[in-house]
Amino acid sequence: MMTRVDPALADEAVRAEGPQAVVIGAGLGGLAAAMRLGAKGYRVTVVDKLDVPGGRGSAIWQDGHRFDLGPTIVTVPQIFRELWKTCGRDFDQDVNLVPMDPFYEIVFPDGERFKAQQNTDGMRAEVARLSPGDLAGYDKFLEDSEKRYWFGFEQLGRKPMHKWEDLIKVLHIFGMLRADKSVYAHAASRVQDERLRMALSFHPLFIGGDPFNVTSMYILVSYLEKEFGVHYAMGGVAAIAKAMAEVIEWQGGTLLMNTEVDEITVEKGKRSYKTTGVRLASGEEIKADVVVSNADAGFTYNTLLRNVRRWRWSDKKLEKSRWSMGLFVWYFGTKGTRDMWKDVGHHTVLNGPRYQGLVKDIFFHQDKLADDMSLYIHRPTVTDPSAAPEGDDTFYALSPVPNLHTDDPVDWAANGERYRQMVQDFMEEKLLPGLGDKVSTSMFYTPEDFRDRYLSPYGAGFSLEPRIFQSANFRPHNISEEVDGLYMVGAGTHPGAGLPSVITSAEVIGKVVPDATPAKAG
Ligand SMILES: Cc1cc2nc3c(=O)[nH]c(=O)nc-3n(C[C@H](O)[C@H](O)[C@H](O)COP(=O)(O)OP(=O)(O)OC[C@H]3O[C@@H](n4cnc5c(N)ncnc54)[C@H](O)[C@@H]3O)c2cc1C
Repeated sequence: MMTRVDPALADEAVRAEGPQAVVIGAGLGGLAAAMRLGAKGYRVTVVDKLDVPGGRGSAIWQDGHRFDLGPTIVTVPQIFRELWKTCGRDFDQDVNLVPMDPFYEIVFPDGERFKAQQNTDGMRAEVARLSPGDLAGYDKFLEDSEKRYWFGFEQLGRKPMHKWEDLIKVLHIFGMLRADKSVYAHAASRVQDERLRMALSFHPLFIGGDPFNVTSMYILVSYLEKEFGVHYAMGGVAAIAKAMAEVIEWQGGTLLMNTEVDEITVEKGKRSYKTTGVRLASGEEIKADVVVSNADAGFTYNTLLRNVRRWRWSDKKLEKSRWSMGLFVWYFGTKGTRDMWKDVGHHTVLNGPRYQGLVKDIFFHQDKLADDMSLYIHRPTVTDPSAAPEGDDTFYALSPVPNLHTDDPVDWAANGERYRQMVQDFMEEKLLPGLGDKVSTSMFYTPEDFRDRYLSPYGAGFSLEPRIFQSANFRPHNISEEVDGLYMVGAGTHPGAGLPSVITSAEVIGKVVPDATPAKAG
């Protein structure tokens, strides 16, 4: 990849002809926004403090193992294909996306397993095996899910939501679909078996939401998984990020890595402020007509716009908002294990003894770590042997934990290694016998790493929690209400976290940013 890494090149980007756009952050949302702006005729400069593009979707190599740091499950692949098409390119030429079958396996505390899959008969057979009486309720749940997909994802998610009238027009549909109910409450109204209730309701945890409190609109995930499949990008999501960076450079854009933005610069406009570009931590300025921030929305408002008077997202409002949970992620390699643990697939959810109680502890008792845990376990080597040296395995185990949004947060410097050992012991007992003797390389991220690496407020794994009053018009808008020429993309903005949402937030950017007009481009 030709990603440029020299901050001095900022100067070259400024001198290039045509309307200038700066994108702060090369997360998947930022890269997608840059591609959209490139397609609209802007000269785009993407600036990121990390050394590689991808943000949470980047990877780190250690001792021959590729650790995909964050997202592993790719859903709704057509939104990537549409993005590439907008740029005059073919996604499938650049990225090798493979379908997963089964999607993932859920292991319950009683040892029972549930294989989520695309095949309807196979999925119904799994439901019937666990709880035959719940089959009719499951069928109904899928119908409910489809309705919420068409409304929540297609109608709301892919459109700008910064005007009250856009929200008011659809309020009655929220009412009809009982968006006030939680995901869990909806699942519980359709099926009786607690294991099935978990299997149908845990998805919000993948975007930072508490299933017992986030709106039941998020049951739409069951439909989109079933309809469009669950996929894996060969080379990890980092391969998608790399392909996006290459499209941006092919469009004539520039990526400045290892470069932190200190402030979004503004001048006073007629009604409000107008952006003039960004100032880097080095003190250099990049002038721009349009700035898109893919930095966390909270960080954008309280740090990058610290000198702007903000009427909507004040420091106080951000402080009072609900933030998604933190994540503890243990990345590890194991030696000579490719033929071991044959019943452990690419994606496993390993449940501990409690569901509701554990979720409550994570979201409401932030000053302590629970003694039990539930894990999502990623074993990419099942699909993609290139993630490890031959015969070895690469894994990560993700445990949702409290974020740092409390007066007395967990001290991870003191507790990190102890917690890692707990994760290892739990997996060794329930899933990977003999694990301790096989670990050959290891590293872990705590909420403190999320705070420091991604500048994520309170070390939250997924920015603002997707509660109903922090969604759609109530979430940070894609078009800034404080500063003309400033736009926002990514997990903390409408429509929310997760790859499909951050890619569609860039689609919204494509709709609200004016085209780079030929007159200006002269
Ligand atoms: C462990 C984990 C697992 C996940 N699994 C899945 C999954 O399987 N499927 C799925 O769909 N989603 C998953 N997600 C969610 C998904 O990864 C995220 O919602 C999404 O990648 C966020 O993208 P983003 O565009 O908001 O930017 P981010 O990835 O958050 O990137 C923002 C970028 O901005 C940069 N930045 C911030 N401030 C500055 C600054 N001042 N100057 C310069 N650069 C700056 C950061 O360095 C970073 O690179 C997962 C997330 C995590 C953490």
